[in-house]
Amino acid sequence: MNSTQINDIMLRSAEAFKTYRNFSGLHKAVFLRTIAEEIEALGDELITITSQETNLPQARLLGERGRTTSQLRMFADLLEDGSWVEARLDSADPDRKPLPKVDLRKMLVPIGPVVVFGASNFPFAYSTAGGDTASALASGCPVVVKGHPAHPRTSEMVAGAITKAAKRSGLPEGVFGHVTGEGFEAGKTLVLHPNTKAVAFTGSFVGGKALFDMANQRPEPIPVFSEMGSINPVVLMPQKLQENAEGIAKQYAGSITLGVGQFCTNPGLILGIEGKDLDTFIATLSQEIEQISPATMLHAGIYQNYEGKRTVVSSQDGVKTEAESKIEKSGIIQAVPTIASVSGATFLANPALHQEVFGPFSLVVKCSNLEQLSEVISQLEGQLTATLMATEEELLDNLSIIDSLKNITGRLLFNGVPTGVEVCYAMHHGGPFPASTDGRFSSVGPDAIKRFVRPVSFQGFPESLLPNELKTDNPLNIWRIKDGVWGW
Ligand code: NAP
Repeated sequence: MNSTQINDIMLRSAEAFKTYRNFSGLHKAVFLRTIAEEIEALGDELITITSQETNLPQARLLGERGRTTSQLRMFADLLEDGSWVEARLDSADPDRKPLPKVDLRKMLVPIGPVVVFGASNFPFAYSTAGGDTASALASGCPVVVKGHPAHPRTSEMVAGAITKAAKRSGLPEGVFGHVTGEGFEAGKTLVLHPNTKAVAFTGSFVGGKALFDMANQRPEPIPVFSEMGSINPVVLMPQKLQENAEGIAKQYAGSITLGVGQFCTNPGLILGIEGKDLDTFIATLSQEIEQISPATMLHAGIYQNYEGKRTVVSSQDGVKTEAESKIEKSGIIQAVPTIASVSGATFLANPALHQEVFGPFSLVVKCSNLEQLSEVISQLEGQLTATLMATEEELLDNLSIIDSLKNITGRLLFNGVPTGVEVCYAMHHGGPFPASTDGRFSSVGPDAIKRFVRPVSFQGFPESLLPNELKTDNPLNIWRIKDGVWGW
């Protein structure tokens, strides 16, 4: 698409915002439910085409489509409940001394057209009608999606479903726009367009940071919520490893290779303390990895990145390749599952070892003792997740490890695997930079809506002019804080 076509889309988007922002929560909920229905109505054809475009198996795509429609319905539920607007009411007190107190009421309102960059690794759940789009539409913002060039037909079909749903729900045409085409120019035009008021992105650090920098150089800077890379450290505590080194290794062989390692929560870094239990862990993990088939990646670019970064990390001084799949490749863009290891001292001295290798790869760091393990943790950058494989007792004796991991991550796991991101209120998916550009916000779960709103206070307004959410008799029956007390 050229810049004139993109400009037209952004003009329609700003026009739609003038009315869409004031549509009731119930009306927007109907829209989101209708999108879910229209996506389901695309049936098997959508799954077949997406599988052809992404090399993802149909079973995975059926699950991901279910997650996508559930997310849309989850935001519809949120709108029907209505309490998400965080209404706060503080009553006037004309008799207060020395000065009378004014009547103040506050709620969240949408910020304006949002540009969403579809992700390559989630063609449904984080692309055209994914979590970013669903949360922005729920907030009352029109959305313009830049479809990912790795699945153009998928993106067109889903965009068609959203457009149909908008018509069926009686919404203005510009509530949803779809921009296609390869090359950074289209994305750049969208981010720099004066009508764009926020950006949501999932992908590489280079891409996410470039869009963030672009947005900050605009005459009017805007928020960019980029969810970028993460190596998701896993800490193997000695007592736990002694109890079950083999079991943990088998569990992690599955997590490292799940979805050909193409998840942002893939465990790319495993930290342990050198000794026989860590050796057992590495030997078992290696045996497992050697038996896992190479598998086709999402697109040639992702495969080339995997090969390039795997080679860079594996060829650093002091890095040993512990295992590679022994099963022969049957396609050019198939990733070979790989495990490497390095000493704690070498890891600390070489920042090249801290980078994400997006794919079925993990680096085991053999620390000399608990002090060095703590030092390694303290030098890690921001992460989406961090996992503790430990007994409760050994963590009670080492609380500082929890504290330092908490400081760098958005989600802390106890005895689990980081792959698998539950969509619910208590999930936080985001982390301190460079995991994301704003670790205060989650891109998963109902709270994702908070990225696209801002608070407005109404001071001294008569009842008749207040939004329903803030009227004294609470006609929408939503949870609010009135004079400091929660209630209806
Ligand atoms: P990407 O290169 O970050 O691209 C994602 C989207 O952003 C594409 O639509 C791309 O534009 C756009 N974009 C990137 N840089 C841009 C720029 N400077 N200006 C304007 N638009 C820009 O991600 P990808 O293609 O999905 O995969 C590439 C690598 O990203 C992978 O190998 C992997 O390392 C990483 N990745 C990480 C995650 C994660 O969750 N951590 C997820 C996916 C990918 P075009 O449409 O024009 O290409």
